[in-house]
Amino acid sequence: MNLTNINTIKGLFARHGFSFTKSLGQNFLINPSVCPKIVPTRKGLHAFEIGAGVGVLTRELAKVCEKVICVEIDESLKPILAETLADCPNVEMIWGDVLKLDLKRLFAERFPENAEAVCCANLPYYITSPVIMRLLEERLPLESITVMVQKEAAVRLCAPPGTRDCGAVSVAVRYYAEPRKLFDVPRGSFMPAPNVDSAVIRLTVNSVTRLGAHGERRADVEDEQFFFRIVRAAFSQRRKQLVNPLSTELGLQKEEIKNALSAVGVEPTARAENLTLENYISLYSRLI
Ligand code: SAM
Repeated sequence: MNLTNINTIKGLFARHGFSFTKSLGQNFLINPSVCPKIVPTRKGLHAFEIGAGVGVLTRELAKVCEKVICVEIDESLKPILAETLADCPNVEMIWGDVLKLDLKRLFAERFPENAEAVCCANLPYYITSPVIMRLLEERLPLESITVMVQKEAAVRLCAPPGTRDCGAVSVAVRYYAEPRKLFDVPRGSFMPAPNVDSAVIRLTVNSVTRLGAHGERRADVEDEQFFFRIVRAAFSQRRKQLVNPLSTELGLQKEEIKNALSAVGVEPTARAENLTLENYISLYSRLI
C-alpha cells in the first residue's frame, strides 16, 4: 500500500469516513522521498513515534526497527491504521495525548531494559517545543530525536547559543543534545498543504543527560530548575541588556548581576543571545 499516493489516502478516508482535524496539526506526508530520510539507517533499534496519521512514517519505521511504539491522539484514525498497519506486527499504537501520557512508564513497560531507542516523528506543529522539551527533560532513554518541524522552529531549535537566532529553547536544547538540521521539506509535500515550509532536524542526545544504564546527570548543573530560570529570565526581554531582566526576574540586585557577569567574562552590556551555553553555566555557578 502506497501511503504517499493521494488517491490511496482519499480512498482510505472515504472508506472510513475520516476528515482532517486542523487543530490537531493534521498535515499528512505525501512526498515519498521524505520518510526514508527520517528513519534510522541502523537496523534493529526501538522507535518511538508521535502522531501516526495514516501510518506513512510508521510503516517505514516498522521495516527497519525491532519495535515501534506510536502515540496518536485522534481515535478516528483507528480503523484506518488497523488497515494500513495490518501487516506490521512490530507496531504498537497507544491512543492518547503525548503531552499527558506517563512517558517514562511507557518506555519502561514497552521497551526492553537498555534498548537502543530513537524518536522519529512528523510533529504536530502546535506542540513542537513542548514535545521536544518533554522528551529531553524527562531524560527518556533516547539516543536521538529526529523530527519534522516548521522551518522557522528548526532555525530556532538548532541555533547555537551566542548567535542571533538563539532563544531560551535553543539554550535548553543544547544543554541536552547536539542539534542539526538535516533537510528542508516544502509545504507541497503534505496533504493538506500547510501555510509554512518545514524542515527535519536531528537532536543527538548527550549520553550523560540520558537516563542510561547509570542514570548520570550533568555534573556542572545541580539545580536545573534554577539554571533554566536564569535562561528564561535572560530571554524574557531579549533586546535589553542582561542586567535588567536578570535582576527583575530573579529578584537580585543589579550590582550582584553585574559582578557575576564580569566574573564569568561577560560584558555588562551583553544581551541574552550573546551568551554561549558555557557562559550560562558559569553564570549559574556564580548566582546559585
Ligand atoms: N506521521 C504522519 C505523517 O507524517 O503523515 C502524521 C503527521 S501529522 C503532522 C501529526 C499527527 O499527530 C496527526 O496524526 C495528529 O492527529 C497527531 N497528534 C496531534 N496532537 C497530538 C498529541 N497531542 N498527541 C499525539 N498525537 C497527536
